[in-house]
Amino acid sequence: MAAISTINKPIETAEEYVQSLRDMKTEIWAFGEKVSNIPDHPLFIPHVNAVAKTYEMPFPVKSHLTGNTINRFNHIHQGPEDLVAKVKMLRALNQQTGCCIQRCAGMDALNATYIVTYEIDKKYGTNYHERFKKFMTYLQDYNLVTIGGMTDPKGDRSKKANQQKDPDIFLHVVEEREDGIIVRGAKAHLTGVSGAHELMVFPTENMKEDAKDYAVVFSCPVNTPGITYIFGRQTNDSRKLDTEYPIDQGNPKYACVGGECLAVFDNVFIPWEDVYMYKEYEFAGMFVEAFATAHRQNYGACKGGIADVLIGAVYGIAKVNGVERVGHVKDKIADMINLSETLYAGSIACSYEGHQTESGAWRADTMLANITKHNTTKFVYDINRIAHDLSGGLLATLPSEADLRHPEIGPLIERFLAGTDAMSTEDKMRLYRLVETLSGGTAAVESMHGAGSPQSQRIMMLRDAKLEQKLKFAQQLVGCRGCNGCDGCKQD
Ligand SMILES: Cc1cc2nc3c(=O)[nH]c(=O)nc-3n(C[C@H](O)[C@H](O)[C@H](O)COP(=O)(O)OP(=O)(O)OC[C@H]3O[C@@H](n4cnc5c(N)ncnc54)[C@H](O)[C@@H]3O)c2cc1C
Repeated sequence: MAAISTINKPIETAEEYVQSLRDMKTEIWAFGEKVSNIPDHPLFIPHVNAVAKTYEMPFPVKSHLTGNTINRFNHIHQGPEDLVAKVKMLRALNQQTGCCIQRCAGMDALNATYIVTYEIDKKYGTNYHERFKKFMTYLQDYNLVTIGGMTDPKGDRSKKANQQKDPDIFLHVVEEREDGIIVRGAKAHLTGVSGAHELMVFPTENMKEDAKDYAVVFSCPVNTPGITYIFGRQTNDSRKLDTEYPIDQGNPKYACVGGECLAVFDNVFIPWEDVYMYKEYEFAGMFVEAFATAHRQNYGACKGGIADVLIGAVYGIAKVNGVERVGHVKDKIADMINLSETLYAGSIACSYEGHQTESGAWRADTMLANITKHNTTKFVYDINRIAHDLSGGLLATLPSEADLRHPEIGPLIERFLAGTDAMSTEDKMRLYRLVETLSGGTAAVESMHGAGSPQSQRIMMLRDAKLEQKLKFAQQLVGCRGCNGCDGCKQD
């Protein structure tokens, strides 16, 4: 399993985890240079620290495959209590890091693959499910981090995968060999490459027979030859290179979002043992839905956790500005709490309302998971708007830490940016930078597009809303007899 991987013993501590990344020597292009010392490079250290938190603060659970105690990120959900525990874990980790924890797309891809491989085998008598269980056991035993690559670059959005001008715009199979397959193409926006051992790759849309070469699911170590990673720029990311002045980074230990890459696959070999769907195109849609539901389930919890940090920072700013007891300020903080707890309530609700699939794995309720993610695309922006309101203009005009440290102008900043005795000017500056980091730019966009743009949730809401049934509820109440092709309440 995982031939290129350098992992040869189970990872037990955060230190061993970081060392395992050094050993893997994954290379990522950033700022026009190829970086090969990822866990020791200032651009990536905060992202690695966030994932390392999942080793420092593990959420243990019993594997249904081996009976061993494993990290919950490598677990296949065995009941509603697992689904609930998953989202509680995400909120807790985000409260501790104020950052995307980068492991949920992988966890969700693993659960989706478990569910769908069972269905493919049932129809075709293939052995994907057993093959995948072996991979799961490997991940669990060695305590590895997996990320999820679903989103193709997609080129012309009005065309399907096989209709694009450039056939590689969606990842696809280009050759079948006795020992495996060769794949070519790309995956975009891939979170967490800097901290991962393994990558799950799967389709981004439903497919028909003419696109069957694009219907492929596999895993591979992130350092597999032939994959080129190109790191995305993030708001204020060059401040991470300015290690002398951590205050300006906002969240210096953990950054703000996961760190995303464009991953280009140039004729990459994948052995059969790591392939879990091969041209069974009619299951691509099932895969997308299983993954999307699992992923959308998370957003009220992880963004709820980050909102907890943001609310705390804004409350601190209100205190240092002497307005924390003013009526409208308290009202607005109450609004932030209402929005963030409503998000969290969605994650909890879709988990409790989950159901068991034929594979035995449990998945969240599709409708409520979509509602949760859709609310995230709005509520996070509302939370951020209040944060910006209560912080005042200093959020946009705060001088640098270098100026604070300067012997000539530092005292001017200390004096003229001072507030109440609630905290020092320096600590006030830290909170401002944290609010700037958590509420702006890249972090906000992640709430909008991560796990799918709003429209993708609306499509699923409308599909599952049972509108005809709702119409009947209304018609029954008013005694409608039905007309113009409508059966009205007569059927009942
Ligand atoms: C921070 C971040 C982290 C991410 N991490 C991951 C990850 O780890 N793994 C992963 O696989 N993906 C990841 N994603 C990708 C994410 O799932 C996508 O960004 C999302 O699905 C939207 O796709 P897109 O970016 O291509 O935008 P688009 O799909 O291009 O959406 C842009 C707009 O165009 C509209 N649109 C698109 N297509 C059509 C159409 N055919 N008809 C009509 N309207 C259309 C949309 O509704 C939307 O309003 C991440 C994204 C972000 C921002």
